[in-house]
Amino acid sequence: MLQKRAAAETRLVSSMKRRKFLTSVAVVTAGVFAAPKAFSITNKINKRIITMAKFELPQLPYAYDALEPYMDKLTMEIHHSKHHAAYTANFNKALEDNKIEAASAEEVLKSISKYPAAVRNNGGGYVNHSFFWLSLSGAKSAPSAELLEAINASFGSLDEFKKLFSNAALTRFGSGWAWLVLSNGKLVITSTPNQDSPIMDVADVKGAPLLNLDVWEHAYYLKYQNRRAEFIENFWNVVNWAEVSKRFAEAK
Ligand code: MN
Repeated sequence: MLQKRAAAETRLVSSMKRRKFLTSVAVVTAGVFAAPKAFSITNKINKRIITMAKFELPQLPYAYDALEPYMDKLTMEIHHSKHHAAYTANFNKALEDNKIEAASAEEVLKSISKYPAAVRNNGGGYVNHSFFWLSLSGAKSAPSAELLEAINASFGSLDEFKKLFSNAALTRFGSGWAWLVLSNGKLVITSTPNQDSPIMDVADVKGAPLLNLDVWEHAYYLKYQNRRAEFIENFWNVVNWAEVSKRFAEAK
């Protein structure tokens, strides 16, 4: 009985895939061979197919236990496979519900004031976490000479920068994020509530994100419970400075 149902489901999926495939083939064929008038119509269809593509949950570039003991395996697994997966699904749903077509998630965030809360919360959650995973690494790295020079010029020293960033993370009331951004050519530490981002047009401090830290309780509660300060202190052991330096070089 179960086997029969599984087989039927497999057939259903492959017939759906085939239909989808046939549709794209039809569009491509029409695009290549049709007369100019028809071509403009198929072009629109093509655009819709491309822009309505669903955003996908990115894979982590390391194993769930790669950041142990500073960020534990179970927290990482739940954070990525449950929390980030939910933001991804809900972002896709919000885009669909509001008929929003966009080439990238960042593009949506940049004009977030036009959209309802579900797009802001889930779009922010989708992008912020995708960025966060890459901000972390189990491998030791250091800021590039160029970034270190900028940090020293802006904050006095790397230690002083860490102190100020940690304080922004610690004092963000409730749920949110701490950020290092490049804003009008300057390094600035800021924090955002909920799933807001410095790339959103509603942000108090706007800029190109270089480093972020999730201070929602779901990011640390299993291991650190109420000890957010200890979680933040340990975060410095897993910062991917190579990635932060690359972002800085690109944003300048
Ligand atoms: Mn989170």
